[in-house]
Amino acid sequence: MKSAPHILYIEDNEFNQRLIRKILEPAGFKLSSAFDGIQGIKQAIDLKPDLILMDLELPQIDGLGAATKIKSLPGLAKVPIVALTSKTSKRDRDQALVAGCDGYIEKPINARTFADQVRRYLKGEHERIEPANKTRILRDFNVTLVNKLQAKIEELEKTNQELRQSKEELLHAYEQSQNWNLELQRLTRLKENIVGITSHELRTPLSIATGYIDLLLEGMLGELNDDTHRVLQISQTSLAKMSDLITKITDLTRLALKKFPMNLEVVDINEIFKNVREGMSFFMKIRNLDFHMERSDEPIWVQADPNLIEQVLSNLLKNAICFTPDHGKIEVKTWIQDNKGWFEIADTGIGIKEEDLEKIFDEFYQVTDVNYHKTGQFEYMTRGIGVGLALCKGILSELGGKIGASSSGLNQGSSFTFYLPMVTQE
Ligand code: ADP
Repeated sequence: MKSAPHILYIEDNEFNQRLIRKILEPAGFKLSSAFDGIQGIKQAIDLKPDLILMDLELPQIDGLGAATKIKSLPGLAKVPIVALTSKTSKRDRDQALVAGCDGYIEKPINARTFADQVRRYLKGEHERIEPANKTRILRDFNVTLVNKLQAKIEELEKTNQELRQSKEELLHAYEQSQNWNLELQRLTRLKENIVGITSHELRTPLSIATGYIDLLLEGMLGELNDDTHRVLQISQTSLAKMSDLITKITDLTRLALKKFPMNLEVVDINEIFKNVREGMSFFMKIRNLDFHMERSDEPIWVQADPNLIEQVLSNLLKNAICFTPDHGKIEVKTWIQDNKGWFEIADTGIGIKEEDLEKIFDEFYQVTDVNYHKTGQFEYMTRGIGVGLALCKGILSELGGKIGASSSGLNQGSSFTFYLPMVTQE
């Protein structure tokens, strides 16, 4: 059985593509489609069709250019090309024939006779052009080609120029970002130095003042009346807070400089949290906070410095207490999954806006609302200086873990979750 004649239809209009397919396929033809001049030439080379139907107004290379190119290719010179177009003047027709088309069918096509027309062209029928016209049309055709080429070159040159300009702009932006980067590095170093020196310089007078207050409180420098005793106790608490802050800031700087000393041991997160919770249960009680805990069945063994883990857990519980109004709820959950020990603390407090969820882990970042700023330690809305979470993040990442926060928004509560890699038991 003779195989179905293979037709390549080069046409950018999908409606026309469907229409011709509907007519030719039932009439026993096999149809392939291309949607622009360049794709058409490539398909012609790949498929070697028995006949090509060519729209003349195509994107990229138009139908005349595509026909000329296809006819110049050795394996395709004999494949009939039939122009299928709504350009109906004699000049258009002659130009198509000069460009290499063998036939010319005008749109709209006649659905009843179309398949037969195609069959005739397949059998070798082709239209001729009067020799006298041929030279003139060839010359016109050449001029048209040169004009198109010129327009394309100009277009390319313009694109090239735009590209060069974008490249320069990009280069400039890159240089600027490099400068900013250097400036940022310089400022970071400056900040680390200032923080380091200031913390160090503050420590000495602080320990002298603390020492004298201790001496006074112990009565080593004479008897104290009740008022003086109370005032000195308040001063002692304030100095202790200051010392705690300086330690936190120094720790942060050391973490950033990767000079953080750690005394690693195998510890159980559940056990450490038990102590932390006991230490703060008084504050939860006076604030009427409801506390719940769901502990993992097994201990969560991790390799870490117990003091630092305690610091992380205290900070998270302290924040949950501080940012949850009286009669609120705090829930802690620990579990083991994928060789990691997980810890989650959720509260029903003031919540965190989505845009702040990452920033709260930055050094000295607070979601500030000065109206609410209080300096107590466990009161509602009490804030520090925004180093606690940065320290938690730094410590956990130093130990191979990670922390994140989530919240459904303001006054919707918050939850903080972290994991640490577990120590594998032999
Ligand atoms: P601070 O010492 O100021 O509390 P942190 O680094 O511990 O610093 O926390 C940074 C900021 O993150 C806090 O000032 C607060 O705005 C927000 N935050 C931390 N924990 C909570 C929480 N549980 N609920 C709501 N906001 C929180």
